[in-house]
Amino acid sequence: DLVKHFPITRGIIFSKQVGAVKAVDGVSFFIKRGETLGLVGESGCGKSTTGRLVLRLIEPTAGEVTFEGKNVLALGREELRALRREMQIIFQDPYASLNPRMTVGDIIGEPLEIHHLARNRKERDQRVRELLDVVGLSAYHARRYPHEFSGGQRQRIGVARALAVNPKLIVADEPVSALDVSIQSQVINLLQDLQREFGLAYLFIAHDLAVVKHIAHRVAVMYLGKLVELASKKELYDDPRHPYTQALLSAVPIPDPTVKRERVILTGDVPSPSRPPSGCRFHTRCPLAEEICTQVDPPFGEASPGHWVACHLVKPGKPGPKLVASPAG
Ligand code: SF4
Ligand code: MG
Repeated sequence: DLVKHFPITRGIIFSKQVGAVKAVDGVSFFIKRGETLGLVGESGCGKSTTGRLVLRLIEPTAGEVTFEGKNVLALGREELRALRREMQIIFQDPYASLNPRMTVGDIIGEPLEIHHLARNRKERDQRVRELLDVVGLSAYHARRYPHEFSGGQRQRIGVARALAVNPKLIVADEPVSALDVSIQSQVINLLQDLQREFGLAYLFIAHDLAVVKHIAHRVAVMYLGKLVELASKKELYDDPRHPYTQALLSAVPIPDPTVKRERVILTGDVPSPSRPPSGCRFHTRCPLAEEICTQVDPPFGEASPGHWVACHLVKPGKPGPKLVASPAG
């Protein structure tokens, strides 16, 4: 039930709060060990904020985060520091997150020093070489600087840095969005290999459903600070129940040219998270909206085992609403 509201203030000396950006507004999910949960939604829907809340890089307005039975929000500084080893983040733009004045060896070696994971320089350098090898870079890269690398290689450096402390969970915040399509699949394959090798869990954030299709075991779809649907990958792609998910999916290109799919074009802009619509937040853009949708916020309910949906038209055991005549194909 995570909530994060960022206050909007006016005035410099006597600033007063005049509103709040409801970036995350009651989001619940779990991630199993070794599993990838894809978190998908348009920009500004609260995905990155959710990822940062999970790692407690920002403090929630309300709600709970539990990691292996530990209440993350109750931890003191030292305990939090220890926990940071287990939960790491990789960013969309690895260049912005890599210090341009540090060598790659120092960038990857830094977390080893912070967490006292190497007894001396020699041990640290040895571990850096191993990490470079794990992400498919060679040892001599350790002496180079970030600007000497391509986007895909820089993302590998970011991954190596995250792996240095042997984490169990990695929040990957749009890790491939800035990369060319051909490079995207290389990085996704690398992340999958690492998951198998080290039993990593990922919260994999992306803005479209095409990117998470290969890597995610389950997928959550977010709209204006709330989850609208969460299901296993198979169910979400084969039987999307929420009209918003159906619209997003209809925009995903199908590799097979013999399969035709109707496209749903969503009209209107995403409303501002500082003044979200009443009732169902999607009602201003939903082609199926009814009277009740403008007034009552639909609960996030389990439509079938493991498949959660927030829509008034979705009833357990009944066929759901369909935006297009023939789904998926
Ligand atoms: Fe559309 Fe109503 Fe369902 Fe919201 S609750 S997605 S507006 S049909
Ligand atoms: Mg983001």
